[in-house]
Amino acid sequence: MAGKPFKVVDVQRLEQNLHHREAEIELLQKTFAEIGSELDLERVFQIVAERARDLVHAQTLLIPILDENCETYTYRGGAGLNADEIVGESMPLDFGICGWVWRHKKAWWRGVLDELDDEERNFWEKEAGSVILVPLQGRKHFLGGIAGINKCDEGDFDRRDLNMLSLFASIVAIAIENAMAVQTMEEARRLTEGYQMQLQRLNRQLSESNRELEYLSLYDTLTGLPNRSLFHDRFTQHISVAQTEKQSFALLLIDLNNFKEINETLGHERGDQILKDIARRFLLYLDGNGILSRLGGDEFALLLPELDRHKSLRHASHLLQQLEAPFDVDGVTIAVSASIGVSLFPEHGADVSTLLRHTDQAMFSAKSGKRGVSLYDPAADHSSTGTLTMTADLREALEQQTLELYYQPKVTLADERIRSVEALGRWQHPQRGFVPPDIFIDVLEQTGMIDRYTHWVIETAIEQIQHWRIQQRELSIAVNISTQTLMNPDFMHYLENLDAIADCGCYLQFEITENLFLSEYERLCDTLGRVRQLGISLSIDDFGTGYSSLARLKKLPVGELKIDRSFVMDMDRDPDDEVIVRSTIDLAHNLGLSVVAEGVETEQTCRCLLELGCDIAQGYLISKPVPIEQLEQFLVDRKH
Ligand code: C2E
Ligand code: MG
Ligand code: MG
Repeated sequence: MAGKPFKVVDVQRLEQNLHHREAEIELLQKTFAEIGSELDLERVFQIVAERARDLVHAQTLLIPILDENCETYTYRGGAGLNADEIVGESMPLDFGICGWVWRHKKAWWRGVLDELDDEERNFWEKEAGSVILVPLQGRKHFLGGIAGINKCDEGDFDRRDLNMLSLFASIVAIAIENAMAVQTMEEARRLTEGYQMQLQRLNRQLSESNRELEYLSLYDTLTGLPNRSLFHDRFTQHISVAQTEKQSFALLLIDLNNFKEINETLGHERGDQILKDIARRFLLYLDGNGILSRLGGDEFALLLPELDRHKSLRHASHLLQQLEAPFDVDGVTIAVSASIGVSLFPEHGADVSTLLRHTDQAMFSAKSGKRGVSLYDPAADHSSTGTLTMTADLREALEQQTLELYYQPKVTLADERIRSVEALGRWQHPQRGFVPPDIFIDVLEQTGMIDRYTHWVIETAIEQIQHWRIQQRELSIAVNISTQTLMNPDFMHYLENLDAIADCGCYLQFEITENLFLSEYERLCDTLGRVRQLGISLSIDDFGTGYSSLARLKKLPVGELKIDRSFVMDMDRDPDDEVIVRSTIDLAHNLGLSVVAEGVETEQTCRCLLELGCDIAQGYLISKPVPIEQLEQFLVDRKH
């Protein structure tokens, strides 16, 4: 036989090698079968680590994978000795043998030492043989590597191990890359789902806030009633339906009287509470009929379908009756009244703006005539414009000084002498005619013009006082001061800087309303004290209509009390009023106050007041408020 004869040992080694090969092929096949269908990345790492360990007989096998940040790598899989402790650890990219493999993109094993220069070889020599690390190169990206540490049989990893592991790595890299892509997709899907849920939540929130916004834009948040804009819509719809169906309806505007004063003296919170209570009472009365809305402030509108003149007026009075029982807010009892204007469709207008304007005028006339309810009267409608233009006209009147002061004498009952007159504002509107002071004072207060107006009244009164003093006539003038002005901190500054006040202060009297006593007490005491220091005397106007008691007045520097004309005018006929007048006079005297009775219209009232000990009378019986020339003539006639 030619060639070298086989030794027994060779045959045995060949057989061993063949076995090895078969085992390796089987292991590779098993691995690919397992990871080919495995999509869980962590599981793939685990299988790869275990099979690779078997393949190269390593004590420990680790799978370092580059992190997304490209600055670190993390051991994502491992098998064998201490692997559990290492898996999950992260290292900087340039650290150790891994760093070398990343940099060179080629495998590390003992054989690499031959390629290194002396310095590097010395550096790596010690661990070179105990480590084998082959790169994991995906189709697109460099993924990381497979590292075997220490051979089980204490030898070094050899070229065969290198070749086997490299082959193994090149094949599993694809599976790892796939599983990584699946994981990324999975994460993206989870993220998308999360976003979708977030989006749905945001959408829900958005539609909720839209609904809230819609509510806020259509309803009054305080009372829950439709607001002006929703009312306008419904009103417009109602008109078109009523037009086609030939139906009639009534429009009511309800405006509270002196509500601003309630707000100012009791505070806005209590004012709001009252508005809520009013809305509740109205709704209870309406019992689902009509459309009630709050137009703003103290103004309500009500649309009552299918009503004639008679029924709508009856409803209006019933609404007023709903306010008769006093309101109780935090233990304070408050009386509220209102004025209602009524107009009818189609009789008084066929469109929204005409009807609103006419109802507004009816309300205006209810207020000025103190009638409670007033139906629009075309015959009495001289104005071509609504109340809105009043503000502009009033501003002009104030600037042009076309407002006037009328004077009404106050007579001392004991000696029938006139020592004082009350100055009352008068406004002759070029188109509307006479506008009652209750109305225009209200507008002045609401538009912030009241301070300017009051300054004008005070200065006009002072001029008049100075004029009379030259004529040796000692006459005082009483000026009405609204709460808003008195409580304005600038007012005292204004007064204290008025030159003429030093001389004329003692001829001036301020009539302040009783409701003022619900304002901040300390500040009120201070203000009234400073007013008194200027020589100006103080009088409580309209006593009996407000919320204060004589006991509260005791400590304040007030010298006079005016019983409201509503009690005085009826005291001849109404025994209750007579009792009120009598007891007020007695109590006021006990407190050292002098008493004025307003609204004295008859001799009988005058006699009665004298008997009751009233000090001063004021009313039509003596004189109506008159212009200055008439007052002077009146004084001359009475030999004053
Ligand atoms: P007031 O201060 O209580 O004024 C008395 C009111 O009673 C005046 O009404 C007067 O004309 C009226 N009056 C007087 N005697 C009689 C009478 O015998 N019978 C009847 N039925 N009424 C009588 P007027 O002038 O309409 O003023 C109404 C209110 O407007 C005043 O009530 C006052 O609160 C307010 N006011 C008038 N001028 C001013 C002003 O310059 N400033 C302020 N802040 N308010 C003013
Ligand atoms: Mg007065
Ligand atoms: Mg009065």
